Amino acid sequence: MPGCSGAELAAVIRQDEACVGLPIVYLSCECNQEDQLSALTQGAEDFLTKPVSPAHLISIVTARALRGRQLRGLMERDRLTGLLNSASLKEQLRREMGRAARSGSPHAFAMIDLDHFKNVNDLHGHPAGDAVLVNLAKLLKRRLRKSDIIGRYGGEEFAVILPDTEPDTAFRVLDELRRRFAEVRHSVGPDTIQLSFSAGIASHPDHTHATLLLRAADAALYEAKRAGRDRVVGCAPEGSGPGSMLLQ
Ligand code: GH3
Ligand code: MG
Ligand code: MG
Repeated sequence: MPGCSGAELAAVIRQDEACVGLPIVYLSCECNQEDQLSALTQGAEDFLTKPVSPAHLISIVTARALRGRQLRGLMERDRLTGLLNSASLKEQLRREMGRAARSGSPHAFAMIDLDHFKNVNDLHGHPAGDAVLVNLAKLLKRRLRKSDIIGRYGGEEFAVILPDTEPDTAFRVLDELRRRFAEVRHSVGPDTIQLSFSAGIASHPDHTHATLLLRAADAALYEAKRAGRDRVVGCAPEGSGPGSMLLQ
């Protein structure tokens, strides 16, 4: 105001997908109920009419902000594991690429895929498969740093972003996780089973665009599978040409 009306501003905010969950509360002199209802139907959460007491304003805004955060948590997280879902992970990766481009610090991106996971479902049932997914998520959360970003990329694929991490360190961290995971005994009824994972790593600044970084990590993962599974493969820098995969 006075450059644009509240309704115009709300319409602009709602156009941005990243702001879909952002609560909007109008505070206005508008007493016309029809106009208030029209503002609410255009995506606002509440309409307060002036004058409003500071205590009332604070309690409404606090309640809306808390609820907005709860909803965002549900939208960003995978239900089963509580990790970031793939859309949020990609968003975090884009942010991290921007941060790294400004600071010049390296970071690594790893894709992790469980080996022969379909067998677990086929032989022991879907709930047993789910339990394995949860166990891997717990291991990742326990072993990685607070600053590392962990997501479930889809199905039995996970991905991690390791900020401020050189490729060699990322490889050591992922390989250590791989060894630890292979030792875990997952309970299946009265029995236990053991599984392995394969991982592919790509790094910044070797790869400078999020899409290329993702593609490179995926290609390295494919190479890990092709080479026999239960291993971590790091990707060579962009432009090293075909066959540039570094088998570790
Ligand atoms: P590979 O070593 O080549 O990765 O073999 P794979 O069996 O792990 O891979 P494939 O893509 O053949 O099978 C993946 C399986 O993951 C199939 C699908 O049913 C299962 N899956 C995907 N999401 C879930 C889930 O949320 N829970 C359970 N239990 N299984 C899932
Ligand atoms: Mg897979
Ligand atoms: Mg798999």
